[in-house]
Amino acid sequence: MRPVTHNTKIKLVESPKGFEGEGFFATKLSDVVGLARSNSIWPMPFATSCCGIEFMATMAAHYDLARFGSERLSFSPRQCDLLMVMGTISKKMAPILRQVYLQMAEPRWVLAVGACATSGGIFDSYSVLQGIDQVIPVDVYVPGCAPRPEAILDGFMRIQDLVRNESIRRRNSEQYKDLLNSYGIQ
Ligand code: SF4
Repeated sequence: MRPVTHNTKIKLVESPKGFEGEGFFATKLSDVVGLARSNSIWPMPFATSCCGIEFMATMAAHYDLARFGSERLSFSPRQCDLLMVMGTISKKMAPILRQVYLQMAEPRWVLAVGACATSGGIFDSYSVLQGIDQVIPVDVYVPGCAPRPEAILDGFMRIQDLVRNESIRRRNSEQYKDLLNSYGIQ
C-alpha cells in the first residue's frame, strides 16, 4: 500500500509481504493476523513506582502511545494482551503479578520497563524481586532508571515486531509449552 500523500501526515502501515498483481493481493494468514494484532495492542499497565510516571508521559499528548493503536489501556487483565510492568516489584507482590499474568488470555506479551522490573535495579535487598522473569516470562526488557518515554516507545515497537512476525501456531508449539512449564504454568 502506498502512503497517503494529500495534505496529511497520516501514513498507512506497510502491507505484509505477499504476491500482488492487477486486482489481487495474496499473503499468509499469519501475516495478516500479525499486522492487525501489532497495530491494536491493548496494554495493561502494572505500575508500582517511578517508572510508572514515565509511562504516564508516554501516554500523554507529546509521546502519544495512541499513535500505535494502543490508546485503549485495560485495567482488567482479561481484556488486554500486553502486560507492561513498570517499577519495583517486592517479593510480596510477585504472586499478585503472576496472578495478573495468568488471568490474561493468549496471546499475551510482557514488557519489563526499567531496571527494577528487569533486575531489581538498585534495590539488591531481601524484599525486592530481582527481575520479574523469576515469576513470569518476559518478551522485551527496557533498560534505564528511569527509562525515558523514547526508550519505552522503543521497547513497545520491539513488542510490535514480535507480534507482527509471530506465527499464529506459536502458542501451540512444544517450545512455548516448555517455556510455560518452566514457570510452572500449564
Ligand atoms: S528503575 Fe529506577 S525509575 Fe524505575 S522504578 Fe526502579 S528506581 Fe524507579
